[in-house]
Order: sequence, then C-alpha cells, then structure tokens
Amino acid sequence: MRLLLVEDDTMIGEAVLDLLRAEHYAVDWVRDGEMAATAAQAENYDLILLDLGLPRRDGLEVLRELRARKNRVPVLVATARDSVQQRVQGLDAGADDYILKPYDLDELLARIRALLRRASGRAEPVYEHLGVSINTATREVTAQGEPVVLSAREWAVLEPLIARPGRVLSRAQLEEKLYGWKDDVSSNAVEVYIHGVRKKLGAGLIQNVRGVGYMVPKA
Ligand code: CA
Repeated sequence: MRLLLVEDDTMIGEAVLDLLRAEHYAVDWVRDGEMAATAAQAENYDLILLDLGLPRRDGLEVLRELRARKNRVPVLVATARDSVQQRVQGLDAGADDYILKPYDLDELLARIRALLRRASGRAEPVYEHLGVSINTATREVTAQGEPVVLSAREWAVLEPLIARPGRVLSRAQLEEKLYGWKDDVSSNAVEVYIHGVRKKLGAGLIQNVRGVGYMVPKA
C-alpha cells in the first residue's frame, strides 16, 4: 500500500517514516502544504497521514481542496492533543479519522490499518480462500493450516490485491505500491514477488488477467 506522509517536523517525520516502512508500506514524505496538495493530485495514494499545522499551506485547506476535487483518498489527520476544535474542523473538512499528537505509534498503525480496511469495504481483517488464510492486521498467513512467512516485498504486492478481491490491478499499479519515490524499480520486480507469493501460497491465489494485470479471486 502506498502512503503519503505530510509532516513538517523532521524528527517526527523520520520516526513515522521508519515505522511505516518497517511495516512494509511504500511511503512518500512531504513537509509542507503546497507539496502535499501537489503530491496528492499527482499520485494515487491509498492513504494520507496529514499534519494540520504546516508551512506554506494549512493542512485543513489542503484537505478541503482535495475533497472539493472529489478526491476520496482516506485521510487521517494528526491533531493536537488539547484541541477538540482541531479535531472537529478536521472531520468536518473531510478527514476520515484523526490521531492525537504526540503519536502513540501502535495506535497510529492500528488506525491506518482500520482506514485501509474500511476503504476496501471489509470490516474484518481476514481473507480466507483456497486453503489460504490471511490476516492483514496481524500479518499472519497460513496455507493449508501451516504458517507461512512472506517477505516485505511479497506483502507489498499481495496486500493491495487482497484489499479488494475481484479487482484487477495492472503491473504498473502494483509497482506503484511497491516503492516510494526514492527506490529503484527493476523491470520484472512485480513478477518476481508474485512468483514468490505463488510458491508459498499456491498458484491459484494471484491470477493473471491476460493483458490487464493481476487479481485475487473473491473469497
Ligand atoms: Ca506541524
């Protein structure tokens, strides 16, 4: 899944970036409201973590503009612990949820997972099909009852497909989920990681849709 982190504080930004990348999200980090608006329009993010107090343009203004343009990307706003008003304004401006600063990192991850899950139209985090069980909250995977460990890159390819079974994603869309701006993408990376997933979870889980891309069958 590809996330946009909007945070002007260097120390907080670096900590959150490390945390999210350790959780296998592809993350782009911008530090002001102007960059946030540009990035959100240019790229197709799965979620935006938006600080409200930002240089150049206020976070609320960025959010209102996104929604005015009918951009429905899930947005989690970061608000000051002591400001009820900020939370209300954030939600009214179109945020899907808020998180208080300073962050509790476990809570931050749980809220991100919940929003991604909701965006995919699923209430619970488990996908079960073809003898495979995948819990996207705990990242526990079993195949025919046996635990399976996926690599970070394999997760990055599988997760967006699992998020919406039956939906086809092109190779380019999966590549986008794999990497942030600063990483190199080798031309056959998606195929390599899909091959890895199939080896571990069976050939039927990720299906080729000829000429279009890949999908996971509906459970
Ligand atoms: Ca700030």
